[in-house]
Amino acid sequence: MAIKVSNVQKTYQSGEVAIHALRNASLTIPDREIVTILGPSGSGKSTLLNVIGGIDGFDKGSIEIAGSKLEELNNHQLTEFRRKHIGFIFQQYNLIPALTVEENIEVGKELSTSPLDMKEILEKVGMLDKKDKFPYQLSGGEQQRAAIARALIKNPEFLLCDEPTGALDEDTGKNILHLLKFVNQTFGRTVLIITHNQGIGEMAHRVIRMKSGEIIETDENETPIDPERVTWA
Ligand code: ADP
Ligand code: MG
Repeated sequence: MAIKVSNVQKTYQSGEVAIHALRNASLTIPDREIVTILGPSGSGKSTLLNVIGGIDGFDKGSIEIAGSKLEELNNHQLTEFRRKHIGFIFQQYNLIPALTVEENIEVGKELSTSPLDMKEILEKVGMLDKKDKFPYQLSGGEQQRAAIARALIKNPEFLLCDEPTGALDEDTGKNILHLLKFVNQTFGRTVLIITHNQGIGEMAHRVIRMKSGEIIETDENETPIDPERVTWA
């Protein structure tokens, strides 16, 4: 079914100044791919991910995803779209501080389509022994694994990750990349990864480069490598 972004434009108004976060973005992402989005800070990466995931609106153009045209949905329909089809992973994990790891993962369970149960998921992300801990009791890598577990239990068609390894060291980051690859390979989910790390492009099927609100390049990668072998930079 693919994701189809056509001529999308988004402008933020900052006082007198118009900031063109997306100028004329077009791209097609086939299903079941790992796609990385690279580009300097401020180039529009997060804005692109947020409009695709329906957490931000846009001014012009069209986004087709999961059988919907997002520009045709009202707020209620957008919420439903996100609930059914989208998972987000952020650099800062976004776990609920007052809930344990297991309770945080439960949040993703409402519309679960995962063949894995809670215990299998906790094992998969290596957090079985930490399931009763609170986020403040965990390292960054552990918090991110809990966030991925929350997405794993929901098992959305589209997993949108905004710098998921940005706060992590190399070993911990590669551990997270392995989990994202698992989601893609085992469940055939589409995984979009925004990153500053060029090397992560080596494990992707497709690499998108952005500059000043535009998609300047899309490369297909015939031979994505194992996360372990990604050049960390
Ligand atoms: P990236 O993720 O590549 O760093 P962003 O998509 O976050 O870039 O931002 C693109 C541009 O839009 C930047 O110039 C940024 O300052 C601006 N921008 C992003 N969000 C907002 C906002 N909520 N209000 C005003 N400007 C914004
Ligand atoms: Mg960003």
